[in-house]
Amino acid sequence: MPSSNMTLLSYFTRATQLFPEKEVVSCPPDGDQRYTYAAFADRVTGLAVGLAELGVAEGARVGTIGYNHHRHYEAYFAVPLSGGQLHTINAVLPDSHVSYIVNDAADSVLLVDPGDPLETVERVWDDIDCVEHVVVMSDSVPDTTLPAVAYDDIVVEDATVEWPELAPDQPAGMCYTSGTTGKPKGVEYTQSMLYAHGMMLMSPASMCIDESDVVLHTVPMYHVNAWGLPYAATVAGAKQVFPGPAPTVEELAHLIEAEGVTLTGGVPTVWISMLEYLEDHDVDISSLDRIVAGGSAVPEGVMRTYEEKYGVTIDQAWGMTETMSISSVSRPKSYMREWTQERQFEKRAKQGILAPSLDMKVVNTKGEEISWDGETFGELWIRGPTVVDEYYNRPDATADSFEGDWLKTGDIVTVDGHGYIELVDRDKDIIKSGGEYISSIELENQLMGHDEITEAAVFAIPHEKWQERPAATLKLRPESTLTADDVREFLSESYPRWWLPDTILFVDEVPKTATGKFDKKRLREQFEQTTLEQTPDR
Ligand code: AMP
Repeated sequence: MPSSNMTLLSYFTRATQLFPEKEVVSCPPDGDQRYTYAAFADRVTGLAVGLAELGVAEGARVGTIGYNHHRHYEAYFAVPLSGGQLHTINAVLPDSHVSYIVNDAADSVLLVDPGDPLETVERVWDDIDCVEHVVVMSDSVPDTTLPAVAYDDIVVEDATVEWPELAPDQPAGMCYTSGTTGKPKGVEYTQSMLYAHGMMLMSPASMCIDESDVVLHTVPMYHVNAWGLPYAATVAGAKQVFPGPAPTVEELAHLIEAEGVTLTGGVPTVWISMLEYLEDHDVDISSLDRIVAGGSAVPEGVMRTYEEKYGVTIDQAWGMTETMSISSVSRPKSYMREWTQERQFEKRAKQGILAPSLDMKVVNTKGEEISWDGETFGELWIRGPTVVDEYYNRPDATADSFEGDWLKTGDIVTVDGHGYIELVDRDKDIIKSGGEYISSIELENQLMGHDEITEAAVFAIPHEKWQERPAATLKLRPESTLTADDVREFLSESYPRWWLPDTILFVDEVPKTATGKFDKKRLREQFEQTTLEQTPDR
């Protein structure tokens, strides 16, 4: 049998041996950085040695709460190469989620960005019982109540390391996904899963990443490993650009121009805002060849404008945390290039065809596979080397969402005769606003905890910029005088501002399904009518 090298070490070795001169550009708050893959290799080695000195051994989980910069990128390699598990934590979650996630994963070390992420950890510190060291991803430690060290101080200079020989099934990464019910659910990625996803992204059937590319990492590094792009770009030997914390579209546009970016990715919201910016500003984005957009449906008009006005192709992609993100890409097949633009865009507006190595089936409620006629719909099931087959520590959720090695995605789709998947509905009540989840169930529970609210249903309403925003329908006690603003203020005690429902409707009765659940479908319909007929807020 040939020796198996399906680990990230093969990525790291290839990039640093064959492309030592390639650049990594980073814009963290403490000053822009530009270094080569050769220098990156030294920093990764130094970080691995530094983390080992903090007690990080094979099997340890290292949590990160941070944005897109070179230090986070170094941790993407140093932790898994050392046999540890890199657990990226969403930096914009409510506090209670962060403490739950850190404890559930039993992270022993946290790498945290200065600013908001550090403040979050300060607030939840007393609720965390597993973390031994906090490392601030900066050159020095800002004022903090935490026993923290600076990242640059633990990176050992001129270090050497003997990387351990790891099995392909060694856990290497971890993310949490917000479920429809209950607590966030952890998924674990092995070395071979990271390896297989990077190979998939490099393939022409997916993102076709090559050493000639300049990849701008717009997807936050706390989101499913920035969709795996940092790993794929590394093994390809591509130049990489990390734009720093929460970059504005102006900053992104200028980075594209200055660094000659050819490929980037992100949720539609970003690309919609970028179009608005480009309308009024003279920035040259002509180096940009393609954008992979997904996380929610990409409006066809946005794709058209990029293509026609800027010569940039938007490849719509579909994926989930459970599938390591990008798992299908919507690009017309070669014989479709003869078709009219109209027909080609119809294909682009779908979620695409499955990436190589994956397997799918679409089943109706009776468990039967549906026909690929573009009309009949069912739930998409998927399996393959980049798809998890369980949730960490959650047999209940695993039983609900998996059948054998099949992941039941909860996405309701049709598949046309050409094999293009189209998402027609989400069998989930979760709200996705600008690519970030808002749990309707959590908001409902919180609302119903208010003395004057007897029923609360929270549901997604379409939004031009954010794709979806939360709306709430409330039944109040007869004597209540609560207003929409009172309700928002009440919620803001426990949730960030972007979680607060934009619209609050007061009703005599929240409609229910036959089984007594809030009928979100009817609510959405009612909402559409109400907004036509009257002002919903009090
Ligand atoms: P996440 O686990 O946060 O990556 O979210 C995964 C979910 O986002 C999927 O199950 C879909 O419901 C939705 N999603 C991802 N990509 C797309 C897309 N291109 N169009 C519509 N919905 C999408």
